[in-house]
Amino acid sequence: MVTHVTTELSDIQQKGTVVMGGTFDPIHHGHLRSAVDILDYFRFKNLRLIPCYQPVHKDQPSVSAEQRLEMVRLGIQADERLSVDKREIVREGRSYSIDTLTQLRHELGADEPLIMVVGMDSFLSLPTWSRWQELLSVAHILVISRPGWEPDFISSLESFYEKHRAKSAAELQCAPAGKIWMESFTPLAISSSQVRNLCRKKASIAYLVPETIQRFIEAHSLYK
Ligand code: ATP
Repeated sequence: MVTHVTTELSDIQQKGTVVMGGTFDPIHHGHLRSAVDILDYFRFKNLRLIPCYQPVHKDQPSVSAEQRLEMVRLGIQADERLSVDKREIVREGRSYSIDTLTQLRHELGADEPLIMVVGMDSFLSLPTWSRWQELLSVAHILVISRPGWEPDFISSLESFYEKHRAKSAAELQCAPAGKIWMESFTPLAISSSQVRNLCRKKASIAYLVPETIQRFIEAHSLYK
């Protein structure tokens, strides 16, 4: 009897499709360590990284979408639970999260938990996103802490958060969508802009990005 209950619980703990969108210009250890922490904490089977084609809230990257995609591919090689989903690059145009999540929802069916991971900085900007209040009708939002960013929400976001916050992390795996949960993992004050700036200054980016990414950036003379 006890064995039976344990099996059921572990099945529940692995349920869900987790996605982390981003510009990944380039992917760095802040993204990658967060992804691995999420997989270990929730015991999800897989986490998909979805590089955008054209960011909605940032300048167009100086490197091509194909190069950013390739860097994500290279960056995830150390953990087979990580995968890359190139749908936004194939779709082209501005990469709206609501479009991507709605498409994923159709593919996954109505019952599968779908979890969108965002860093605290991204969550703070949520009220500027297209159809932001509809995001929870198709997915949960998992907000991860990020050094330098505090949960100082403007009032529309505060009420949205209070209305939809989960009571426990497990709620993200018990329903297909609709909840917000915040979690802190390994705090790494690394950003893509920091990496790009160091490259421009001809300074080392070692230990901020995987070696494979460092070599790719050097080989293709990116971020000069
Ligand atoms: P940039 O410096 O160019 O603004 P970035 O480092 O924020 O880029 P993105 O690809 O835009 O990288 O980020 C994708 C997602 O990962 C966002 O939700 C962002 O908040 C989150 N993220 C990025 N870096 C970290 C980090 N060090 N810790 C936690 N979350 C992060």
